[in-house]
Amino acid sequence: MSDTHNGLFSLAGRSAIVTGGGRGIGRSIATELARTGANLVITYRENSSLAEAAARELRALGAACQTCKADVRDGGDIERAVNECLQAFGSVDILVNNAGMTNDNLLMRLSEEAWDEVLDTNLRGTFLATKAVLRPMIRSRWGRIINITSVVGVSGNAGQANYTAAKAGIIGFTRSVALEVASRGITVNAVAPGFVLTDLTAGLADEQKETIKDRIPMKRYGETNEISPIVAFLASDAAAYITGQTVNVDGGLVMS
Ligand code: NDP
Repeated sequence: MSDTHNGLFSLAGRSAIVTGGGRGIGRSIATELARTGANLVITYRENSSLAEAAARELRALGAACQTCKADVRDGGDIERAVNECLQAFGSVDILVNNAGMTNDNLLMRLSEEAWDEVLDTNLRGTFLATKAVLRPMIRSRWGRIINITSVVGVSGNAGQANYTAAKAGIIGFTRSVALEVASRGITVNAVAPGFVLTDLTAGLADEQKETIKDRIPMKRYGETNEISPIVAFLASDAAAYITGQTVNVDGGLVMS
């Protein structure tokens, strides 16, 4: 039996797909799942070297791990990732819909391309991957789907109408699918991080970052490894009676 978080839970024998697991929050989630005992397929869109480096790290933790180039906007790519997981490990027990992106602008200047790209990646990608894992999860009468949304999907954010629409959509999607599969041993939950310094947020001006930090009741940004433990918990048997929920991990930002 692998590491069990003080005996509270273990993911030993479980297999997980983490979309966008090669860097940022997804990499931290993959690491936490591996530490807790899961085997993994991590997907990436283009950064193969980062995904391979992440996979080496996960193997060093004792996990079996494969990488898969799969654009979450493409149903065929997603099917391939799911099949690779089934072939390698015999099941897909856990799906973490983490892959995401921003393309910010005020609505007056927001192009149709920027709208489509952000909705397709964050929301359509979550739909496609969730749909692809449901059949194998229903067959094995066990499954955990964890969707990474954002605190701004709850609060709104000027300059992010596309991103907040996608992330709010993920929250509604999470609840609806949770209701559809609740009787099948499958839970569907969302995790809403606050502001975490990753490549996604690196492009913001220092002034913007300081304004955000000021609004966070804890007066600091979140770390990727402060997001991942709740994902591992929701993926475990210990969270069997929790479904359709959105857990904010944001230093209190959503209340401010
Ligand atoms: P990063 O930009 O650091 O990483 C994004 C990841 O998503 C990469 O692994 C990337 O793959 C993958 N990705 C992007 N587009 C696609 C695509 N079309 N198909 C497959 N994979 C794709 O972002 P974060 O780690 O910060 O964000 C992870 C999640 O957390 C996202 O859903 C984001 O919206 C959410 N989030 C982040 C917050 C933050 O403050 N950072 C706050 C709230 C939510 P590749 O490396 O190949 O490009």
